[in-house]
Amino acid sequence: MIGGSTAEQELADLEPWPNPAPAIAADERRARLAQAQGLMTTEAMLIGAGASLRYFAGVGWNATERLVAMVLPKSGAPAMICPRFEEGSLNAALGIEASPRLWEEHESPYALTASVLAELGASTLAIDPALAFFMFDGLRQAAPEVAMETAAPVVDGCRMIKSPAELALMSQAKAMTLEVHRRAARILTAGVTTTQVRRFIDQAHRALGADDGSSFCAVQFGAASAYPHGLPGDQVLADGDLVLIDTGCRVQGYNSDITRTYVFGTATQEQARVWAVEKQAQAAAFAAVKPGVACEEIDAAARRVLAAEGFSADYDLPGLPHRTGHGIGLSIHEAPYLVRGDKTPLAPGMCFSNEPMIVIPGRFGVRLEDHFHVTEDGAAWFTQPQESLEKPFE
Ligand code: ZN
Ligand code: ZN
Repeated sequence: MIGGSTAEQELADLEPWPNPAPAIAADERRARLAQAQGLMTTEAMLIGAGASLRYFAGVGWNATERLVAMVLPKSGAPAMICPRFEEGSLNAALGIEASPRLWEEHESPYALTASVLAELGASTLAIDPALAFFMFDGLRQAAPEVAMETAAPVVDGCRMIKSPAELALMSQAKAMTLEVHRRAARILTAGVTTTQVRRFIDQAHRALGADDGSSFCAVQFGAASAYPHGLPGDQVLADGDLVLIDTGCRVQGYNSDITRTYVFGTATQEQARVWAVEKQAQAAAFAAVKPGVACEEIDAAARRVLAAEGFSADYDLPGLPHRTGHGIGLSIHEAPYLVRGDKTPLAPGMCFSNEPMIVIPGRFGVRLEDHFHVTEDGAAWFTQPQESLEKPFE
């Protein structure tokens, strides 16, 4: 289960995932636009390049210094603001009906947006909360008469609840990453470096057909596992090291993100004890999930286990220095969050990570991370949690 193979052997029999989940259909995208229009309290909404543009328009472009955006009126069809030289690429990517509004390199995309708003007669505009400040600044200068506010309630209101098609895409991404974890454990050998393991994980994600290899990858050996997001530089695996690997990929933009912690060699009593408490905290968070329960209650449930076992009930160490989990979808971290202060009531279709890490400063850290979605009567795992310290994979 741990060791005994090589990267070459493990990569050799990997193939693109069988029966891939279908892409988001045109009908579903139309329904998203209609839902957004229903939630809007302004006359128009602007969504810039990034995860939300992918969500509403099917365009999976990252934000750059050039404005690419959808302007959605409260009723009627959206317009797409885009550089003219990108029109062909836009048409190839676009998953909705939208009228193109193109700007040349020397022109102001903000003046163009202002004229689109004027044509719509829109004097109120909700803006994508992820839009860069310099773009917001350009817009407010070009359209000083338009009242602008955040579109966060509309964007989150739509994106927080996942449809069956979205659950299927995330299910596939997570199953693929768990398979990569299983194989990564087999290539471990004394002397292997974190860089070598990361490279293997990226290649394995690619071989399974992920959008673009690993979307991120943290491989931490020994004392480096005590830092939630690792340490710079390479580490070399030695006997008795705790191994913490956290990685993910994307399928049609939808994210996976799974952590496994196990020992290379024989676990010490201390490692085994902390691992068992971590397992219990993750299970308690899962068991607390029910529609209507506030997000922060899930974090509290994990912390009650830690406090009962002698760890800090707060962010102090030894204990859990961060939130218990995050929403996940087209963004790897998205609203709502399983954190104190987030009172969003859980609802069927919401998706979260469950990762109440325990850090023993200067020694090691244990994180078990699996994701679940909220159902009518509780929660359902996307991937089954790690069974035991000795048996990281079934
Ligand atoms: Zn993670
Ligand atoms: Zn996570």
